[in-house]
Amino acid sequence: MLSVSKIREDVLSGAKSAKSIALDILSRIKENARLNAFVCVCDDVLQQAESVDEAVKNGFNGRLAGVPVAIKDNMDMKGYVTSCGSELLKNSPAATEDCRVVKLLKAEGAVIIGRTNMDEFAMGSSNTTSAYGCVLNPLDNAKVPGGSSGGSAAAVAASLCAAALGSDTGGSIRQPASYCGVVGLKPTIGSIDGEGVFPLSQSFDSVGPITSTVEDCVTMFEVLSGRKIEKMSSPKKVGVISEYFDKYTPELSRLMDEVKRKFGDCELVTVSVPSVLKAFVTYCALGNKEAAINIKPLGTAMDRGEKIGKEAIKRILIGEYVLQHPSIASDALKMAKRIKSELKEALKECDVIVSPTAPSEAFAFGDDRSRAEIVYSDLFTQPPSIAGLPAISVPFFIGEHGLPIGVQIIADENREDLLFAFAKRFE
Ligand code: GLN
Repeated sequence: MLSVSKIREDVLSGAKSAKSIALDILSRIKENARLNAFVCVCDDVLQQAESVDEAVKNGFNGRLAGVPVAIKDNMDMKGYVTSCGSELLKNSPAATEDCRVVKLLKAEGAVIIGRTNMDEFAMGSSNTTSAYGCVLNPLDNAKVPGGSSGGSAAAVAASLCAAALGSDTGGSIRQPASYCGVVGLKPTIGSIDGEGVFPLSQSFDSVGPITSTVEDCVTMFEVLSGRKIEKMSSPKKVGVISEYFDKYTPELSRLMDEVKRKFGDCELVTVSVPSVLKAFVTYCALGNKEAAINIKPLGTAMDRGEKIGKEAIKRILIGEYVLQHPSIASDALKMAKRIKSELKEALKECDVIVSPTAPSEAFAFGDDRSRAEIVYSDLFTQPPSIAGLPAISVPFFIGEHGLPIGVQIIADENREDLLFAFAKRFE
C-alpha cells in the first residue's frame, strides 16, 4: 500500500515528482477499474500535481505535498456533483465550493484524485446499495468491502490513493477499514469540521481518514482537525467490555487472545457497560429519525420511490415513524445518554477499551447471511458513535477465511493520542 509520509518525503526531496506519482495512480485506477471504487476521477489530477511540483520548487513543504487523496461521494468538491451514491442526486447541480476538509487537504498540498463510491446516503455496511454499483473488496473480489465508505477503504487497500476520506455514523469508516485491512479513524464528534458534507445523522456523523498506517492516520487527523498530537501517551490500563464476552464467536475469542498478547506491560481491566447491547435500537431510532429529516427536502420516500433504493426507503420510513411517535425518540435519547455515561465511567477505570471492530471478516456478495450480518456488523462500532467518542480500527487478525478483522480501540473524548499510541502495537 502507499504511504503518505514516504510520498511526501519523495516529493520534497525531489526523488519523485508529484506528477509522476499522479500518473502512476491514474494508471493503477484504470487497471483496477473492476473494483468500482471511484464514482469519478478528477479531470485536473495532473494539473493539481504540476502545481504542487511548482510550489515545492518555491519552498512549499505542505504536510501532504503530492499525496494522492480520494474523497467520499458525500463531500462537496467544487465542480462535481455530491451524489451520495444515489440515483436521486446523480443529476443535481455541481457543488460551487469545496467542503471544509477538502480545502484543508489542498492547503497542505494533497492531490485530490476523485470521488469514492459509497452505500446510498451512507446507509449500509456492504457498499452494495450504490447507484454506481457494488465495490469489490480488493483482498477478495467475491467479498464486499464493507460500508458505507467502501470505495474509500478499497481505494487505499488497492493503492489507488495513499489516503481517503470517509464518513462514519455507526461504523462506516471503521468497518470497511476492518474488511479491507486498512486503518480507519472515527474521531471525537465535532473535532473535524463537517461543513459541506451531506449529513446522515448529525448527532453521530464524523468525517475521518482511512490510511495504510497509523502514522499516516495521525498526519491526516492533524491536518483535518487542526490539532497537534504532541506526545502520544501510552495507555497503562486497557479495558475489555464484559457484556461482549458471550457475543464472541470462537474466532473473535482467538482475536481477543491475540490482542491481549500485545498488551505488554498494560494492565487488563474488565469493565461493565450494561447498556452496550442497546446501542443498536438507540442508533436505529435516533439515526433514522435524523436521516428522515435530512432526506425529506429531496422528496418524500414514497414519491421518490423509483429513485431511492430499498435500504434508504426502509430507513426513511423508520425515521418518519419515530418522528410521529416522539416517545420513541425521547426513550432512545435517554438510552444514548446512558450508553455515553456508562462508557465514560468505564473509561475512568482504563485508558482505552478494545474489541474486535466487526463480528466477522468481509462476507460474500449474495451470501444468505448478508442481510442479517448487515444489521449485526455494527455491534462493536455503534456504541462509541452514540457516545461521540473517538475510535480507530487497525488491521491485525486474519480470520478463518483468510481475510482481516480489525481491532477497535476506543478512548475518551479528544484522547486520539491514546488511540494512536496503542494502535501502533498492532502494526
Ligand atoms: N453500517 C451502519 C449503517 O448502516 C453505519 C452507517 C454509517 O456509519 N454511515 O447505518
